[in-house]
Amino acid sequence: MTIQYSLKRSRKRKKTISLQIGNNSAITIYAPYFTPVKEINRFVEEKQKWIDRAIRKQALLPVHPPKKTYVTGEIFYYLGQSYPLDAYFDPLENLGVIFRNNHFFLNCPVNMAMRKYYFVSWYKKKARQYLSERVDFYENMLKFSSGGIRITSAERRWGSCSEDNHLSFSFRLIMAPPQVVDYVVVHEMMHIREKNHSSKFWDLVIEVIPGCKEHRRWLREHEHHFIL
Ligand SMILES: [Zn+2]
Repeated sequence: MTIQYSLKRSRKRKKTISLQIGNNSAITIYAPYFTPVKEINRFVEEKQKWIDRAIRKQALLPVHPPKKTYVTGEIFYYLGQSYPLDAYFDPLENLGVIFRNNHFFLNCPVNMAMRKYYFVSWYKKKARQYLSERVDFYENMLKFSSGGIRITSAERRWGSCSEDNHLSFSFRLIMAPPQVVDYVVVHEMMHIREKNHSSKFWDLVIEVIPGCKEHRRWLREHEHHFIL
């Protein structure tokens, strides 16, 4: 079987041939300018198994995260557990989200923007409570304090630590399991000590959260569930 690829030759590249698999499983080979085609083909052949595996893996990943529609039966996450939604509209009751008996209840007219707004508000409130407690807990344990916390709507970043040690966390973090939340809390708090991702930084994190690598991976693999 021959593998289709596009070839990019570079005068800057000295010795190595490398390959990249882009979206739609497109393969690009990067090679030094004068590499014979035969050698490139041999490289591709040698990598065939690896390429097959990588493409299969890519096919399993959802391309577009399923967008929430806020209808009854839909699943929402809270501290690592999933709970079904019961959506209705009763104008005589308070509008908004209530979490009770392992169910989310949403009282809101059928209006996507409004329904999303109420969910985001609920998650932000819970995130602020829960994350404040966890930061307090680790401040006591580690014997240093942060400049306070802020809850953001960031989609790509779980947390950050500013120059003046303010901690920011995405409200989405509250959908992850408690041990994963703690990892992100400790990660950002250790940036108070080390403003980088050096091995010294990771040593500090691992000392408190030995499973931090696993939690990082978990976040990467599950983040598509946490889009509202
Ligand atoms: Zn970091």
